[in-house]
Amino acid sequence: MAESRVVPEVDRVAAAQRALQRRRARASLKRDLTTRVVTPQEVLRRATADHDSDAATMRVTDFLMALPAIGSGKRDRILDELGISPVKRLGGLGVRQLAALSTWLDRRFPAAVPRAGRSRLLVLAGPTAVGKGTVAAHIRAHHPEIHLSVSATTRAPRPGEVDGVHYYFLDDAEFDRLVAAGELLEYAVVHNRHRYGTPRGPVDAALAEGRTVLLEIDLQGARQVRAAEPSATLIFLLPPSWDELVQRLVGRGTEDAEERSRRLRTARVELAAQNEFDYRVVNADVATAAREVVELSSVAAR
Ligand code: 5GP
Repeated sequence: MAESRVVPEVDRVAAAQRALQRRRARASLKRDLTTRVVTPQEVLRRATADHDSDAATMRVTDFLMALPAIGSGKRDRILDELGISPVKRLGGLGVRQLAALSTWLDRRFPAAVPRAGRSRLLVLAGPTAVGKGTVAAHIRAHHPEIHLSVSATTRAPRPGEVDGVHYYFLDDAEFDRLVAAGELLEYAVVHNRHRYGTPRGPVDAALAEGRTVLLEIDLQGARQVRAAEPSATLIFLLPPSWDELVQRLVGRGTEDAEERSRRLRTARVELAAQNEFDYRVVNADVATAAREVVELSSVAAR
């Protein structure tokens, strides 16, 4: 009957809203791929695990184009090589196509393999605004057995920050003296502004006592520690999504618009370095992320 084919207005509005939400979720997932917040293998896993997921409804062409360094020419060659039609969605790939795509991804984007023989010196780094400081503070509050290194910095204390607890607040001359005396395990200028460094003495003393030591430092510092102490365990903290990272940076409200966009550009570059790290931890929830970091410390100590 004619009436039965008429879709009620409310249903049409609801369907349009659902379609819009889907498109937004897919766009967000594409940003996660482009910024490497999520690995392509993980998106493919989600697509196959749940055929109704956002990943499953993503076109394979969009998926490929969201990957770093793939343009339309390369995309077409890859599809051809893998025998996949460009109209396919990830959730609609056949078994053989899935296997071919997955092999291709593993070759092109190999997963980071933790190096053997990691030490109890843990380095926690990650992009700006990911919440490294919050995770480190949670560990300080709940895991007194872990020695959290107190950095030296030339920046001024923020309200509530205590000298010797949150940082050693130094002037430029004092910082220069530590550098000249070789008393810093690493140091760097962060966000083009102030200098931050890890005093070597307390780290060595805690390690000598058999304790686990955690450094919460920036990427440049993490690289220096790896060069100085190749056995250090490097942990990269990831946001649950790129959009969430943007939200956290905006929500913090401590930077103006220009500074925020500068930090987001830096964050993209920082995310691209995650494969230099031994482990990745997603900071969706502070307590869970802190627990995972602590668990990695016992893996490292074995
Ligand atoms: P904030 O000024 O917000 O406390 O810290 C800014 C940045 O400095 C954070 O990304 C933090 O990881 C980094 N940072 C803190 N201490 C050190 C340090 O000792 N060395 C290095 N390289 N970076 C640090």
